[in-house]
Amino acid sequence: MPNLKTFKMFINGKWVDSVSKKTFNTLNPENNEPWATVPEANEKDVDIAVKSAQKAFEKNWSILHPKERAKYLYKIANELRLNAEHLGKIETIDTGKLFRETKTQANYIAEYYEYFAGLADKVEGTVVPIDKKNMQVITTRIPIGVVAAIIPWNSQMLLTAVKLAPALAMGNTVVIKASELAPITLLEFAKLIQKSGLPDGVVNIITGLGEPCGKALTSHDLVERIAFTGGPDTAKYIVKNSSENLSQVSLELGGKSPVAVFNDADQKNALNGITAGIFGASGQSCIAGSRLYIQSEIYDEFLDKLVSKAKKIKLGNPMDKDSQMGPLSNFKQLEFIEKIVKETINQGGKLRCGGKRSNVSNKGYYYPATIIECKNHNMPSAENELFGPVLSVMKFKTEAEVIELMNDNKYGLSSGVYSTNLARAMRVSKAVRAGIVFVNTYRLISPVAPFGGIKDSGYGKEAGIESIKEYTRLKTTWYNTSEEPMSDPFTMG
Ligand code: NAD
Repeated sequence: MPNLKTFKMFINGKWVDSVSKKTFNTLNPENNEPWATVPEANEKDVDIAVKSAQKAFEKNWSILHPKERAKYLYKIANELRLNAEHLGKIETIDTGKLFRETKTQANYIAEYYEYFAGLADKVEGTVVPIDKKNMQVITTRIPIGVVAAIIPWNSQMLLTAVKLAPALAMGNTVVIKASELAPITLLEFAKLIQKSGLPDGVVNIITGLGEPCGKALTSHDLVERIAFTGGPDTAKYIVKNSSENLSQVSLELGGKSPVAVFNDADQKNALNGITAGIFGASGQSCIAGSRLYIQSEIYDEFLDKLVSKAKKIKLGNPMDKDSQMGPLSNFKQLEFIEKIVKETINQGGKLRCGGKRSNVSNKGYYYPATIIECKNHNMPSAENELFGPVLSVMKFKTEAEVIELMNDNKYGLSSGVYSTNLARAMRVSKAVRAGIVFVNTYRLISPVAPFGGIKDSGYGKEAGIESIKEYTRLKTTWYNTSEEPMSDPFTMG
């Protein structure tokens, strides 16, 4: 394979192969061709990475003043901006996401590092109103230790930033495991970490499979905190792994996010929001609004408009400026989506557009924008997370009915409401059981806005002021302020 690029892992400030010298290839979703080869880490590599992070934690990073740590985060932000175009290009080859989007995102992600840099010296302790005489009790927030960050293949730069930036700001050191489906972006990012001059071992980036690499990392006895983003099945393994080291875990998992469009919605706004919500990034977004409920009076008219908009979405090479949707990230995903769509149609689902593998490139994993009318939301495409550009549509009559329907799913990550009636929008958004609700908008993120789900979508919040505390532990210190000696413990009264 003449053009295969070779990459190394970043451990303890050095570029290394795996101990076993084993490697694996990663495929370009646009043409199904291997384009890079990376080290395949096993338990030994994990052990070296974790021990280097532990050493950096004890000797250096945890005792550095927060303001000094913040300076490094600002340097990372600066490097991200300087290299956004390059990182975007790599992420597009790695994942098939549109270059337009990956480049913009790489730039914007710099703001996450700046936000947490700004917070680094603003996390304060408390003085406790203690009920004991001559005692002063204070609490302080201390770093936790080595953080294991497990990243899925999509939005790697963002999903790394929301873990790495607060972890570093609070004095923790980190071992990041990149996804085996798209590992290169993070190895390129490691070059920016190196350029930013962070002390050796503070950030380590390794590549390997879920097992043995991810398993070894999340069960390593020196790991104190696990930050995971990925699927719910993997999350169950992670929680089991964490019983080995009793580490604190946060889980950002999948979703089957419901969106309601009321008769009084601004239709143009709703059409744009729904299209962005399910067809942006080819639907490979954890917050994809994939269950759509349209109120009966506007159902036919609105759905016709949505179908006609979806049919115009241009599928094409993700590097091309005029492509609106790129390929799916991997072949397994393409097969899974095809299977679920087929099952839904067999059970009476009415296909309105898409639904068939596209021939944009005879090798890439292209699947078009797909809309299926479903008789109920227990049909396969309406109930399960597909992680693809498939919208399941259902009709509803009343507000009470749609609230019940929206909440009737095991996930609770995101949701959407389109209505020009403010009181109704507030009632529905309050009643929806989800970690995020978008009202008359969709698919927005920000370093200042907490992100995360409830129910089977996981626990713990990423981004926002509260999330930084998830990378600290509370420490209680008692001071005896008396000049007198302590009373004899064996003399009662
Ligand atoms: P995945 O669960 O298959 O893999 C995620 C990561 O876990 C990979 O790095 C993988 O190597 C690792 N892993 C696998 N087995 C492991 C094990 N036994 N121990 C430790 N690590 C292991 O997910 P994916 O296919 O890469 O990503 C898609 C999923 O991620 C979807 O379900 C999507 O909804 C979810 N996701 C959620 C969010 C969010 O913020 N809520 C964001 C993006 C993606």
